[in-house]
Amino acid sequence: MGAVWLLAGCPRGEESAAPFDAGTGEGDPPADLSAAGDAGLTTTSLVVQNPGFETTFLNPGSYVTNTPPPGWQSYGSIDYSYRSIGSLNPSTTALYVDPAPEGRNVGVVFLLDRPGDASYFASSEAGLQQTLTATLLPSTQYTLVVEVGNIATDGSPSHPFNFAGFPNYRIDLLAGGQILASDNNTLRPNEGRFLTSTVSFTSGSQHPQMGMALSIRLVNLNNAVGTEVNFDNVRLRQTR
Ligand code: CA
Ligand code: CA
Repeated sequence: MGAVWLLAGCPRGEESAAPFDAGTGEGDPPADLSAAGDAGLTTTSLVVQNPGFETTFLNPGSYVTNTPPPGWQSYGSIDYSYRSIGSLNPSTTALYVDPAPEGRNVGVVFLLDRPGDASYFASSEAGLQQTLTATLLPSTQYTLVVEVGNIATDGSPSHPFNFAGFPNYRIDLLAGGQILASDNNTLRPNEGRFLTSTVSFTSGSQHPQMGMALSIRLVNLNNAVGTEVNFDNVRLRQTR
C-alpha cells in the first residue's frame, strides 16, 4: 500500500521523478494495475469462469450446442434444439472472416424460431449468463469488456444454416439479479466480424444490491433477421 499512497500524494506528471519507483518493488501488483497513478486507485481483474469458451476442446470447424459451456448457465428459453447455447471453433470455416478474438472458440447463442426460415424472429431474447463470486462493492468502477461477433453463412454440409443478418445483442452487468448497466446493441459487426463492447458502471457509497453477487449476461435479442450471436473474451475489471 505504500507505493499506492506515494502515488496518491504525487502531483500528476511528477510520478516519474519520485525517488521511489513503484514499478520495481517486491510484491508488485500485476501489470493490470495500471490505474494506480491517478488517485491511488487499484484495478484488478475479477474471476470469470471459462471467459473465452476454451474449456471445451473443439476441433476446427466443430461446435457443441447441447449443453451450456462450462461455467455458464442458460438465460431465457433454451431447448438445445432450435434455441441453443454452446461453443464453436470457427477456424477453417467461412463462418468468420476474423479469427476467434481469443483462443480457438467463441460462445454461441443460436435462436431459430421457425425451422427452415431464418427470416422469422420471435423477439424472445435468450443467452448465456454467469454469476461470479465477486460482489458489488461501494465506490467502485466496473468495466465489462466482451467481443461480439456476427456469424456469416458458410453453406457447407457441416454448416448449412443461413446466418445472414444479425438478431441484435445486449450485454448486461448485474448484481443480485438486477441490471446495473448494459450495452444494448450499440455495435453492429459486419458479417463474419467481431467488435469490442464495453459496459461501465460506478457504484456510489450505497446501492440496493450492495454486497450481492455480480453476474454477466450475454444476450441474443432475437428481434431482427438473423439467428446467431457469438461472444468471446469476457473480461470484468474493478477499479477502487
Ligand atoms: Ca475464445
Ligand atoms: Ca450473420
